[in-house]
Amino acid sequence: MALVVHSLASGSSGNSILVKDGDTAVLIDAGIGIRRLTAAMMRAEVNPKDLSGIVITHEHADHIAGAVRMARRFGIPIIANAPTLDRIDGASEVPHNILAANEEMALGDFLIRPFSISHDAACPVGYSIHSSCATLVSATDTGILTPEIRAEALRADLIILESNHDEDMLIKGPYPWYLKRRIAGEKGHISNDAASSLLLDLAETGRPVSVWLAHLSKTNNTPALALATAQYTLWSCLGTTMDISVALRDVPSLWWRQTDRPFQLSFYYSKQV
Ligand SMILES: [Zn+2]
Ligand SMILES: [Zn+2]
Repeated sequence: MALVVHSLASGSSGNSILVKDGDTAVLIDAGIGIRRLTAAMMRAEVNPKDLSGIVITHEHADHIAGAVRMARRFGIPIIANAPTLDRIDGASEVPHNILAANEEMALGDFLIRPFSISHDAACPVGYSIHSSCATLVSATDTGILTPEIRAEALRADLIILESNHDEDMLIKGPYPWYLKRRIAGEKGHISNDAASSLLLDLAETGRPVSVWLAHLSKTNNTPALALATAQYTLWSCLGTTMDISVALRDVPSLWWRQTDRPFQLSFYYSKQV
């Protein structure tokens, strides 16, 4: 068995992560259009009708744009907590299941646990997905690193962690003041420096973990800057580096681990979705 994770899109123009192990496949969010989503999934050799569900982090458009149409077209359930489902137009008319924050649900061969994050949405969550061979933790769209994020991160084999903005670029950048305040606030998005502080904690445990920096701002960050901030912080504080990649906005990335070989690989595939 192998846990295979594809980031199909990442950032404020759309987010979706495909997670697969054996016959079980789920999407975390479906924040791009159904045609683009379907094409990306077929390229990843997963037929959308074989999904066990679409788990939703929160109701912002960049996370749900294709969710209801996917559920209707392929008869797959949207899975979210009740306050989030209530905010998604049409969710009550398609297959759906309620999964409250901090409860667990078995979905095929996965055990899925949503955990609390801090964001300006009805009831936003991140997700831990445990398969037989690895644990994925996804934590994006959060203004602070909640205790739950820190606790889940310590168990991850792959963590998809928000690294939204460079603080200087945000402050000096073109956004209006109210938007800068929202992004930098406790219910906004975490910066490169905040992401790096969690990576320091993870590096100190000595436990191997792969990292994808995700949900990067197009205006207030660059993939190179996010990556450099993380590695520079690790190197200057602990004299070490980690296996860190960036989940790009439009270019899918792939990670996988197989049970019989402790082998992992992280790379981008260059075809546009
Ligand atoms: Zn978002
Ligand atoms: Zn959001």
